[in-house]
Amino acid sequence: MRVIFIGPPGAGKGTQAAKVVERHGVAHISTGDILRENVKRKTPLGLKAKEFMNAGRLVPDELIVAMMKDRLRESDCAGGFILDGFPRTVPQAQALDALMVELDLELDAAVLFQVDDETVVERLSGRRLCRKCGAIYHAVFHPTAAEGVCDACGGEIYQRDDDKEAVIRNRLTVYHSQTAPLIDYYRSCGRLLEVDAAGSSDAVLVALEKRLGA
Ligand code: AMP
Repeated sequence: MRVIFIGPPGAGKGTQAAKVVERHGVAHISTGDILRENVKRKTPLGLKAKEFMNAGRLVPDELIVAMMKDRLRESDCAGGFILDGFPRTVPQAQALDALMVELDLELDAAVLFQVDDETVVERLSGRRLCRKCGAIYHAVFHPTAAEGVCDACGGEIYQRDDDKEAVIRNRLTVYHSQTAPLIDYYRSCGRLLEVDAAGSSDAVLVALEKRLGA
């Protein structure tokens, strides 16, 4: 399985990718996670990416493409992968196509997770994460039992800098202007699969597996 996940921030791409990976044993490659790790470790890439990320803007294509060229050559990708958050622009999609030719691989599908903007704002502005184990909560829909403390591991709960409402709105504007053109890009070559991502995560998984024929 070689699949890319497209959709606005907060569409549940990461959540669904984790479930599909668990079932099918493919690699889960989240560009957002790789970038956040680089920011945390203050690597040259992290230092360059940080300002863009905190403003809800896209990190420049050349940095992302170079990062993905290395990542897709790693051995865990041999058995298939889900690309979560890449490509996010048409130039990135073109670079991915070129890389797939170079690696003699084929992309099976691009899955579009459809969800409206207000649902995204509601989901992301309430999203909270555990600093230690990465567990995901929601301030209203799925709060921790004790405020600020992870139910699973007792770690500290925090809100991502880019999950503040003003930044979320900016990320949505960026999505509609820079990432949404990928919908036509993949539709025109017959590789687009569409999934309604507004429901519960279990319902979305059922729809997703059906679309993937998995
Ligand atoms: P995510 O966790 O996927 O929402 O990504 C968080 C942030 O990382 C985005 O708002 C961008 O600033 C950056 N980012 C992640 N993936 C990409 C990409 N493919 N191209 C450019 N920037 C990206």
